Amino acid sequence: MEHRNKERFLVDQMLLRLGRWLRLVGLNVANPEDADDTKLLQKARLENRTLITRDRNLAELCRSVGVDCILINSNGLHDQMKEMARIGIKLQLNPQRCTICNGTLMEAVKGTNSENGHFSNLEKMWECEACGKLYWAGSHWKKIEEILDKIGSGEF
Ligand SMILES: [Zn+2]
Repeated sequence: MEHRNKERFLVDQMLLRLGRWLRLVGLNVANPEDADDTKLLQKARLENRTLITRDRNLAELCRSVGVDCILINSNGLHDQMKEMARIGIKLQLNPQRCTICNGTLMEAVKGTNSENGHFSNLEKMWECEACGKLYWAGSHWKKIEEILDKIGSGEF
């Protein structure tokens, strides 16, 4: 299957939650500035993003003006993720994007500096370049991986 994880996306107001989950699998997903369809189309075109929407009329509008668009049919997050998987999005945790602001994540290492200058108790972490939010590869992300696995295998 063709992988689309390198593509740039934009979600509409109804799909902000899906947007956050897509960032967890490494996608570059912008949030809309407001609910204005015209602005949404402009942003998609200007930033070369594929618009993800649940609004049939908006999807039609995209087609008529030549903006790439993905029409989501499901209400629930899990089904929405499955729809994305069906069109080639890999549902695998991939820390690249801040789930809050879509900023780029920088890999960093958290640890306490020991006397000989080496780190001990190393823990992998990521910092958002834009908003400074920190992410750890701890129990929270384990849970997310499990959820993604279940969605992928059809358990959810
Ligand atoms: Zn951020």
